[in-house]
Amino acid sequence: MFDKILIANRGEIALRVIRACREMGIQTVAVHSTADADAMHVRMADESVCIGPPSGTDSYLSIPAIVSACEITGAQAIHPGYGFLSENANFAQILEDHQITFIGPSAQHIRTMGDKITAKDTAKALGIPVVPGSDGGVPDLASAKAIGKEFGYPVIVKATAGGGGRGMKLARTAAEMETAFTTARTEAKAAFGNDEVYIEKYLEKPRHIEIQVFGDGKGNAVHLAERDCSLQRRHQKVFEEAPGPSISPEERARIGKICADAVAEIDYIGAGTVEFLYEEGEFYFIEMNTRLQVEHPVTEAIFGVDLVREQIRVAAGLPMSFNQDDLKINGHAIEIRINAEKLPNFSPSPGRISQYHAPGGLGVRIDSAIYDGYSIPPYYDSLIGKLIVHGRDRPEALARLERALSELIIDGIDTTVPLFNALLGEADVLSGDYNIHWLEKWLEAHLD
Ligand code: ADP
Repeated sequence: MFDKILIANRGEIALRVIRACREMGIQTVAVHSTADADAMHVRMADESVCIGPPSGTDSYLSIPAIVSACEITGAQAIHPGYGFLSENANFAQILEDHQITFIGPSAQHIRTMGDKITAKDTAKALGIPVVPGSDGGVPDLASAKAIGKEFGYPVIVKATAGGGGRGMKLARTAAEMETAFTTARTEAKAAFGNDEVYIEKYLEKPRHIEIQVFGDGKGNAVHLAERDCSLQRRHQKVFEEAPGPSISPEERARIGKICADAVAEIDYIGAGTVEFLYEEGEFYFIEMNTRLQVEHPVTEAIFGVDLVREQIRVAAGLPMSFNQDDLKINGHAIEIRINAEKLPNFSPSPGRISQYHAPGGLGVRIDSAIYDGYSIPPYYDSLIGKLIVHGRDRPEALARLERALSELIIDGIDTTVPLFNALLGEADVLSGDYNIHWLEKWLEAHLD
């Protein structure tokens, strides 16, 4: 086992990793920008190293600075958290070359899944159902129109190098294809420096269902059921739950096994998430994330396992501490993402937190790095905390969420908490009857 791990991240996820390390008796090194000198992850880690100025590009994304911090402190492994360098195959490769363990999958797996066309081809070859669409990249408008005709409109044009919902354009008719195809390519070129696009059948009312998988890198893998993350704003998740309210035990077992077998087949190591759109009983693969997800705590809650601990174990060459038969779902969990943002426009609201009180009690977990008097810097993601509740069933989890929100105090800045108070008054949220478009429509009608 490692003696010392460096965490190449900040905020709640850096604390999350520090917590797992402390329970495992592993020393931790925090890295931070000059803007984060007072951050909680710096206070909580055993050691810290300043790696650069406020801009993420010059600090949390600076590979030379992070590798140097490892060498100075003698850390043997790096946990990348999510975001920043977590899905950067080049980073994983450089660490390998420096004999530093990357706590995550191989550079090759990151690369394969980071390109959406190779990811989809790989998924298909491994027996995972995918969204019907073009066979790889679409070179020109004439081919795009031919594909539209073959699969039937509406279709969606997507960037191969895409992420964060960018470079994605809907074409409802053949007439709309010209604009959709051209703008998707232009946006993709500008955002990712790669204008390759592919085309998929557009699903009208799907849910976003993702399967948590975990492998030991030696051909053993399990699935930890699904999360429903359909409540999204601009393709960003805001409310996640496990298990999915619309998924039957039979469907869960079937799709879970397909995903676990697929990652076992490629000797995948560590945590991964296979993302699907789900409509009328069918699953359609959209992408695989080769890292820990923001919403992993709902899975931890219903299975009673620590996924970060498992990531560290398998990275150190140890076996997973569970097998498929050990994994039984217990109750229901919901996570909400608390962002420092001002409604109704969700504009960033950095600044000083004048008062903070975290909720507690049975079945309540807060993953956050904020504290009384903390000043949220304006340079990074607006996620400032996650509230996770666990109950014996979905109604109990919802009641607990409402109760926990009533105890939460964050003064001095604006947050997205009022959104969740409002959502808990909605019949569709209470019954779990929503799809990926539900929240956008609700926001249009309610927040002006
Ligand atoms: P990104 O990596 O940019 O987030 P994804 O491929 O994961 O892109 O898709 C993000 C979101 O876009 C999905 O959660 C869904 O809301 C929507 N989407 C993607 N593909 C389709 C499709 N074929 N039909 C309908 N909606 C889609």
